[in-house]
Amino acid sequence: MRIMISADMEGATGVTWTADVEIGTPEWQRLRPVFTGDVNACVAGLHNGGATSVLVNEAHSSQRNILLEDLDTRATMLTGKHKPLSMMQGIDQGIDGVVFLGYHTGAGVDGVLAHTYLPNQITGVWLDGVHASEGRLNAALAHEHGVPVILVTGDDLTCADAHTYAPHARTVAVKDCVSRYAAICKPPTVTAAEITEAATTAMTHAGRTEGTVTPHRIEVEFDAAHLAAATAVIPTVTQLDVRRVGFDADSMTEAMKAFKIVTAIASGATEGSYG
Ligand SMILES: [Zn+2]
Repeated sequence: MRIMISADMEGATGVTWTADVEIGTPEWQRLRPVFTGDVNACVAGLHNGGATSVLVNEAHSSQRNILLEDLDTRATMLTGKHKPLSMMQGIDQGIDGVVFLGYHTGAGVDGVLAHTYLPNQITGVWLDGVHASEGRLNAALAHEHGVPVILVTGDDLTCADAHTYAPHARTVAVKDCVSRYAAICKPPTVTAAEITEAATTAMTHAGRTEGTVTPHRIEVEFDAAHLAAATAVIPTVTQLDVRRVGFDADSMTEAMKAFKIVTAIASGATEGSYG
């Protein structure tokens, strides 16, 4: 049983503030071991439940956050950029189950550090007409490869979101959202025990099936008009409204590659404090 952990940082134990997830800050340095602890708790549980190998795919920002020197020796880690499938790189390599660890809610809704890919410039994403978090997008990609989402960790609202796109997944709320930058947090030893227990039982849902490739449509709304105009130059992307673009793709894999380009161009077209 080969399991992949897609590990994001906003939904990790103790993380509530922008500096907590910004590369190079003292707060980020302080929380890297805590984030690594969440990952290790998950690796332990997955092995308890029968996993034979665990690949940790770093999925936050520079994708260089987890401390390799402290990683459970039963896991390997994919770290750094650039990766064609980004947060889900490796999902097409014979994986039997995927964990979304440290995930968060999507742009435009409540949740600790809620966003979708870009911190503020994207105000909403819709997958086939349904408001989509990174979790929902990545679950659709996993589904295309026949890989079940077996466990999701993050704040309580992230867990509620996960129940809508992966109803069979176990969830662990490591904190309860109070606002975008505040949460009631459990200490790392408490969340570690909960993550290990959930990962162990989550393994009962592991098991790859035949994938299903279907066309998908993604629409993206930005906080400024020029970002929509900038991304509408991409082939297949059309501008639907002043701040909204959309595109169709023959598969979720192609849709996510196009979405990655949309976010890269929007990020490049962002102009300082005027956005
Ligand atoms: Zn994220």
